[in-house]
Amino acid sequence: MTTTHCPYCSLQCGMVLEGRRTLEVQPWAEFPVNEGALCRKGWTATGLRGHRERLTTPLVRDRATGELRAAGWDEALDLVAGRLRALQAEHGKDAVGVFGGGGLTNEKAYSLGKLARVALGTSQIDYNGRWCMSSAASAGNQAFGIDRGLPFPLADIEHTDVLVLVGSNLAETMPPAARHLDRLRENGGRVVVIDPRRTPTADRADVFLQPVPGTDLPIALGLLHLIDAADAVDEEYVATRTTGWEDVRRTAAAWWPERVERVSGVSAAELRELAELVGDAEKVMVLTARGAEQHAQGTDTVLAWIAVALALGMPGKEHAGYGCLTGQGNGQGGREHGQKADQLPGYRMIDDPAAREHVAGVWGVEPSSLPGKGRSAYELLDALGTDAGPKALLVFGSNIVVSAPNATHVAARLASLDLLVVADLVLSETAALADVVLPVTQWAEETGTMTNLEGRVILRQQAAAPPDGVRSDLDVIAGLAARLGHDFATDPEEVFAELGRASAGGKADYSEITYDRIRAEHGVFWGTPRMFADSFAHADGRARFVPVEHRGPAEPVDAAYPLHLTTGRVLAQYQSGAQTRRVRELPDAGPFVELHPMLADRIGAYDGRPVVVSTRRGELKAPARVVDTIRPDTVFVPFHWVGANRLTNDALDPSSRMPEFKVCAAAVTA
Ligand code: SF4
Repeated sequence: MTTTHCPYCSLQCGMVLEGRRTLEVQPWAEFPVNEGALCRKGWTATGLRGHRERLTTPLVRDRATGELRAAGWDEALDLVAGRLRALQAEHGKDAVGVFGGGGLTNEKAYSLGKLARVALGTSQIDYNGRWCMSSAASAGNQAFGIDRGLPFPLADIEHTDVLVLVGSNLAETMPPAARHLDRLRENGGRVVVIDPRRTPTADRADVFLQPVPGTDLPIALGLLHLIDAADAVDEEYVATRTTGWEDVRRTAAAWWPERVERVSGVSAAELRELAELVGDAEKVMVLTARGAEQHAQGTDTVLAWIAVALALGMPGKEHAGYGCLTGQGNGQGGREHGQKADQLPGYRMIDDPAAREHVAGVWGVEPSSLPGKGRSAYELLDALGTDAGPKALLVFGSNIVVSAPNATHVAARLASLDLLVVADLVLSETAALADVVLPVTQWAEETGTMTNLEGRVILRQQAAAPPDGVRSDLDVIAGLAARLGHDFATDPEEVFAELGRASAGGKADYSEITYDRIRAEHGVFWGTPRMFADSFAHADGRARFVPVEHRGPAEPVDAAYPLHLTTGRVLAQYQSGAQTRRVRELPDAGPFVELHPMLADRIGAYDGRPVVVSTRRGELKAPARVVDTIRPDTVFVPFHWVGANRLTNDALDPSSRMPEFKVCAAAVTA
């Protein structure tokens, strides 16, 4: 019997795995985050064990036939290292790019960053977490001086007075978390949901606002306008704990409710009702998720909602404040330990001389040998194979072909590479394009830490041996490093201890956390469980109001593309679906197009019959789902299958470099 955690989302539900050959999932009632509850993805998580599509030998593309053929580990790793060396000798260190994932353990994320900066000497590393919650991270750093998804335990939700969920469908994306909403309402609290779709989360709401996609920002400015007009601003808090309010107040003054209504479709009356609700409440908690964040203006949108929380005097107050609901399993830790283009372990900035000196000391290299800041995830992919861009890419824990925006373009860039190497469990859509595929362990077959959405570091423990022929990512990274002349640890606990030393003194400091402590304490928060009680992380201890203006989506609707396309998840699938689409017990209906009956009538579409969604980047044919829970001017496509991201826009947020996954202009025909 092994206690561990689910392989999927950022809740990192605790579970018990029993059995030797066949693992069975059991509840782990003592683990506080999920108290034994799991969603259907968690219950079926062992479905990939022994799956017939598991890769158990490296694959190398045969030059003569163009097909992938089985190869030995030494042959595959020697080939990769040799070609990386040759490409760097010809084109320079940055000829090699590394692409990581927000589902990798902290140890893997750390080792991958070290592989890039020390063994390869390349600046070209980033990861798919850039597409997850980087806008909230950027906003958190600007406003609070630090970025932690939730600066308080998730269960605090139950004790607030008003919970405002902006762009979160947690009842479907992390169902065990929905019990906090139910308990909050039992305790007399109120739930507000803002979403272009009436989701299962919205069905639990006391107040539901259904705006045009991409207009969460003006709604926040309108709320600020009304809160100020009603004298509901916590003036003492604003004066003693923040700076910048007057600039934000001036911006919000122009967002009277009728103007918000014209832009967002949320009526002035609805906005006034919400302003009254939050203005009268003692404790208000604002949580954003991808719906608010995955925009070319995602950072500004989050800053506007943080401003709402600050104006009401909430951040730092018990059971109140602002937080972001992370998406990927290690969305938080994955961006703290060095696989992000601008960061070194401990959430240190790579262009900070003191940070470089500290980390270089742990790594036993000269600070001057460490490369500088690289390209962000999409910019890295966009540059592949170009004169100035990488000629080779190593991919760990990411299925780019499905998950990248403007995916047809990205697939073309991958195809232009001299060398694509993918480490994965199965032949994902991205691995199928690779020159070398390296078969790696999956979660139940390895040990390592993850940092959940609360900043709680938890321990996944190995419950079964991997199939013969499969290696852990840490082994693969160390094998490559060795061939490039560097000695990397492969034992997860040893890597974690090194990560602790590298992160010591950084914003995300893991130096006091050990595997034993995690086991004994049901996970260990980095920092304190509740942050900002006395001060924020800026040097003066104050939070920042940051003035923002509404620009609107990068691609507004027009006569040719008159509808808003938005994308998201369904309960039974996870991210690119590389894992969950292969779990037999999980329904895999394929992509669908959700549209309103009025729109269906107009174009002659019928439920279950195919429709074609087109944007300026491509089109997708899929069955229609005619539902009255979506706005009539909006269509929704889930992104777990090939296709949705062939439609999405690659416009980037100027600060976080987040692509605008959540809205673009589209047309639909029957
Ligand atoms: Fe829990 Fe998320 Fe796993 Fe579902 S997918 S069991 S909510 S960690």
